[in-house]
Amino acid sequence: QEDQFKKVISHAKEYGYIFQSSEIYDGLSAVYDYAQNGVELKKNIREYWWKAMVQMNENIVGIDAAILMHPTTWKASGHVDAFNDPLIDNKDSKKRYRADVLVEDYCAKIEAKIDKEVTKAAKRFGESFDKDQFLSTNPRVLGYQEKINTILSRLARSLENEDLADVKALIEELEIADPLTGSKNWTDVKQFNLMFGTQLGASADSSMKVYLRPETAQGIFVNFLNVQKTGRMKIPFGIAQTGKAFRNEIVARQFIFRMREFEQMEMQFFIKPGTQKEWYQHWKETRLKWHLSLGMGEDNYRFHDHEKLAHYADAAADIEFKFPFGFKELEGIHSRTDFDLKAHEEYSGKKLQYFDSDENKSYVPYVLETSIGLDRMFLAVFSNSLQEEELENGTSRTVLKLPAVLAPTKVAVFPLVNNSGLPELAREIVDDLKWDFTVMYEDKDSVGKRYRRQDAAGTPFCVTVDHDSLEDNTVTIRHRDTMEQKRVKIADLRAIIKEEVDM
Ligand code: ATP
Repeated sequence: QEDQFKKVISHAKEYGYIFQSSEIYDGLSAVYDYAQNGVELKKNIREYWWKAMVQMNENIVGIDAAILMHPTTWKASGHVDAFNDPLIDNKDSKKRYRADVLVEDYCAKIEAKIDKEVTKAAKRFGESFDKDQFLSTNPRVLGYQEKINTILSRLARSLENEDLADVKALIEELEIADPLTGSKNWTDVKQFNLMFGTQLGASADSSMKVYLRPETAQGIFVNFLNVQKTGRMKIPFGIAQTGKAFRNEIVARQFIFRMREFEQMEMQFFIKPGTQKEWYQHWKETRLKWHLSLGMGEDNYRFHDHEKLAHYADAAADIEFKFPFGFKELEGIHSRTDFDLKAHEEYSGKKLQYFDSDENKSYVPYVLETSIGLDRMFLAVFSNSLQEEELENGTSRTVLKLPAVLAPTKVAVFPLVNNSGLPELAREIVDDLKWDFTVMYEDKDSVGKRYRRQDAAGTPFCVTVDHDSLEDNTVTIRHRDTMEQKRVKIADLRAIIKEEVDM
């Protein structure tokens, strides 16, 4: 698994998808740049989402709100007070950790002991081994399980009560050591706000502390009534937005899975209070269907329903995807009640109510949110598509089986040789197809090598122009996934490609 993930990261660099930010200065941690192919893939994912959410839904419209918002926004949303991670420093190593993650990692080690017991017992009992029964009766396993439960519930309780001294006490009682140095010399636990702050305005006394938005959702909430009125929207209706969000993440690892600057694709759906259960189901199903439409394998997705809910939610679920490091959150579906709009009413002193002409009364709508990280979706698509394939002739090939609708380059056109008028005809085909698709012209190395390069870059079609093409206006089109080659009329190329790459 780890090897596969390393391959994903190096392939993303080698094929011009993702570079480390400011690499010549040794990079900036958890910040990445999208390269020439990455920017296309990212744009295509964004468009695929926008088309499904906005274009295909009469009652959903888009906006593009500013990254900087009035600072009171973040008071109202709860981010100033509650968007925190509990941090602890090791006095010897000077390394900083998330206190809750240290405790959770400790529990994961106990969990691993349980797994070991299971493996041992399975060997001992052979065929007759009943795992569930073993887990619920074996005294040693039950002891481990109880220990985990006690630790995690104490952690949850202390965090909820903001009893940070007890979080530190827990770390000391468990004798948790710095994973890098083994030192157990800890500082107190402090809450650390994840928002990036900056100054608006130049002069010392008139400048105002503002934040880079940690989510795009609030730009939608504060514009709710503007959009509803100017767009004459009737409930139920939605507002969608894609854009950058910023979080000063402490546990920043796993490549573009957790970044400090990332992009979200969010949709807030405004509904009549009391109808949230149905809409929650509706959007869970609708969003899962969207994912499945890309054909990346049903088994790679699962729902995770939240038991512990955020302060604004009355129901929440994640769509998890099987990343190279296991199932992890890809998208969240949240029933946010009227928490946000009510809070903005309170802090702004402005009414944010909808007049329902069917019911002849005004109310603050409830909200269902779908929220997906564009970069995380990129990682899901990219890592799932990268495959090493054994071929019939005993060789292997690296192929990036991106869904064709998302591929950065749709077709590469090759002249078989660089003379006899073949380059000219190949150029003509490029110039014609580029009105509809991203097209690439390539004339270096053997055609076999060119195919391999395009396979690894994710290009779904290659077109080769040869001497016969000059006579009969046909070319060879080769399909990335099947490697099948067909002779087709140049005039038919557009339709053949369109069939697979159109959104
Ligand atoms: P996590 O538990 O992984 O930190 P979250 O629950 O804080 O995520 P939300 O606040 O619900 O995430 O954000 C919605 C979506 O935004 C997530 O499902 C994820 O796809 C994406 N996202 C959140 N934080 C990051 C990040 N630091 N880097 C990249 N994507 C992110």
